[in-house]
Amino acid sequence: MLKTKSIKVINSAADIHAAVLAAKCAGASVGFVPTMGAFHEGHLSLVDASLAECDRTVVSIFVNPTQFTPGEDLEKYPRPLEQDLEMLEQRGAWLAFVPTVDEMYPPGFESYVEVGSVAQPWEGAARPTHFRGVATVVLKLLQMVPADRAYFGRKDYQQTLVVRRLIEDFDLPIALRVCPIVREADGLAMSSRNAYLDLTERERAAALWQALLLAERRRAAGETSVAAIRNEMNEHLAAVGIDDVEYIAFLADNTVQEVSTIASPTVVAIAARVGRARLIDNHRIG
Ligand code: AMP
Repeated sequence: MLKTKSIKVINSAADIHAAVLAAKCAGASVGFVPTMGAFHEGHLSLVDASLAECDRTVVSIFVNPTQFTPGEDLEKYPRPLEQDLEMLEQRGAWLAFVPTVDEMYPPGFESYVEVGSVAQPWEGAARPTHFRGVATVVLKLLQMVPADRAYFGRKDYQQTLVVRRLIEDFDLPIALRVCPIVREADGLAMSSRNAYLDLTERERAAALWQALLLAERRRAAGETSVAAIRNEMNEHLAAVGIDDVEYIAFLADNTVQEVSTIASPTVVAIAARVGRARLIDNHRIG
């Protein structure tokens, strides 16, 4: 166990498990925030949410190779560990769990979670083995960190549905908390991958949020046709030079099922490439 100032950094699964169990035995409630690091206020809002309702907060930092598909940004994914630990320290987190790839996937590792229909479309279709990797690492992390509550961001809407299923299907004794999306001043959803954008791309990227707001406004003005709203969103994105839109999906709230008419709460989810970055965002309307 290594100590940097007051936040403890733990690398081993056995040590984090023992530390969390000891805290719970002593009567403390424990919150857990799984992350891949490169912190921004989105991550830190999850830490704050945990700090607000749990006695102790554990944050894991692990760039999980199994959730990257071949050709994605695994190697160049940012890993500013010292800076991250500094931020956790300032925020008041209790423990940072920073396992190595070998600790998580030792030689001989060969079991994966087979995810169901909730993981098939949208992000699952664009990134075929992504949710299998997410579900596998989340299951492992929740075993290693037997916390009372786990905090995830709504930014990764489909991921929250996959994790909810995982927790239910494997009877994991943890409460899932889904926290709101934190945005930059111009509305761009905070993401570690925003660092891949150059200045022009960064300005252009705000159009994703503008398109989501446009959908909200059109719905509020009485439009219920998904086709009509999607058209306008595409036009807006094209007008600012975002021409690589992977999907704009209108989903019944808390599902991955598409709707063609907006009659009840609907999540508008969007994925687009801007420069080298693949960006996702979503917004609930209706
Ligand atoms: P990551 O490090 O990208 O795996 O993200 C770790 C957690 O932070 C996930 O639960 C994400 O959904 C969440 N997160 C990432 N960006 C944001 C954001 N802008 N607002 C809220 N939560 C976020």
